[in-house]
Amino acid sequence: MKSSRGSVLTAASLCVAVALICFVSARSFLAMRQPDPVAPAQGFERYLLSHWFPALEGSPGDTDVYIQDSGVPGGTVFIMGGTHPNEPSGYMAAIIYLERAKVTKGRLIVMPFANLTAMGHNSPQEASPQYFSLDVDGGTRWFRYGSRATNPVYQWPAPDIYIHAQSGQKLDGGSKSNLNRAYPGVPDDSLTQQVAYGVIQMLNKEKVDLAFDLHEASPEYPVVNAIVAHDRAMELAAMVSMELEMEGIPMRLEPSPVNFRGLSHREWGDHTGAMAILMETGNPSQGRLRGRTDEALALTGKDKAYLKAAALGRLFIPYEGDQTLDLRTARHVASMKMFMDMLGDVKEGGDVEVEGIPSFDDMMERGIGAFLSPVEDDRFDGK
Ligand SMILES: [Zn+2]
Repeated sequence: MKSSRGSVLTAASLCVAVALICFVSARSFLAMRQPDPVAPAQGFERYLLSHWFPALEGSPGDTDVYIQDSGVPGGTVFIMGGTHPNEPSGYMAAIIYLERAKVTKGRLIVMPFANLTAMGHNSPQEASPQYFSLDVDGGTRWFRYGSRATNPVYQWPAPDIYIHAQSGQKLDGGSKSNLNRAYPGVPDDSLTQQVAYGVIQMLNKEKVDLAFDLHEASPEYPVVNAIVAHDRAMELAAMVSMELEMEGIPMRLEPSPVNFRGLSHREWGDHTGAMAILMETGNPSQGRLRGRTDEALALTGKDKAYLKAAALGRLFIPYEGDQTLDLRTARHVASMKMFMDMLGDVKEGGDVEVEGIPSFDDMMERGIGAFLSPVEDDRFDGK
C-alpha cells in the first residue's frame, strides 16, 4: 500500500499538471479574441457599427465597417462576411473586396466580420481548427476559424426556446445566438439581437441598394452553391444565375421563404430598401459526414467520406475529391461581381463599378492568397 506521503505527492503533481494544461489552453483560447488584421485598399474609410447604432459602442459586438465612395453618383452595395465564422469562404470573399476594390462608380460597404465575438471562439465538440493560414506575397496571413454562434461569454445562458421578437416564431434556444436568426434585431435585447438591429440601421441610413450575406454549408445540404434571393431581388438574381451558368460557375437560385423569419435574405428585404441576397458555397469541413477536422480540411475540402457520399449521389455539389477554399471564395467573389455588373440594368442610377477584383480563373490559378496584402500580425510571436 502506498504511503500517505506518496499520495500527497501524486495529488500535488496532478494538480500542477492540470493547472499547467489549463494555463496553456486558456492562453491559446483567449488569443482567439485578438482580431485578424486586414489591409483595406486605398479609398476605404473605417467606421464601427456603433456609428449607426450607438448603443453598441464599446461592446464586444461593435465590428468594423469600411466604406469606399467613388465620388461618382451611383448605387450602394453592401458585402457582409462572418455571420457564421466557421464558414470561411464568406469572410474571405469580403476580405478580397476590402483589400482589392477600386470603386469607380457608386459606393461599396464591406463588413468582413459581422458577428465579431463568434470569430473569437470555437464551437464545442466540433473539433475545428482555431486558425488557418494562407501564403501571400511576402509572408503568411493567419485567419481565425470561429463558431456559428455569438461567444457565450457575452450572451449566456441560452433560453430554452428562442422567440423571434417580431413574428413570435419559436426556435431552439441556441438560435438566439445565431445572427442569421436575429433580424431585424431588437435594440435592447442580447448582443446578437443588437448587432442585427445595428446592421438594419446601417442598411437604411446608407440607403443600400444591394446587400450580400455570405455563407457556406455542408455539401449534403440542399441549399448549397446557391443564391437565396428576397422577392425584390429575384429578377436580378435570376439574370445573374443564368449568366453565371454560362460562365461555368453554376449557382442555383432559391427564393427566400416568406415564413422563415429572422434571416438576412428575408428581413433585410422586408425592413430596408436593399435587394437582399444570401449565398452559400459547399464546405466539407462543416458537414456531418466529415472525418478529421483540421486546417487542411478547411483549406482543401479533401475528405474520403465525402468522396463516397458523392459516388452515392448524396451531395448537392459536384465533388471530385476536394472543394478548396480558393474555389469556394472565388465562387462568392465572382457571383458578387456579376450582381454588381448587372445592378444598373434593374435599378436606374444604381450602377456600381468596381475594378481590381480578381476573376474566378485568376483565383483558381493563383489561389486567393495571391490577392491578399501582407500585414503586420504579432499574434504568433514566439509560436
Ligand atoms: Zn451560415
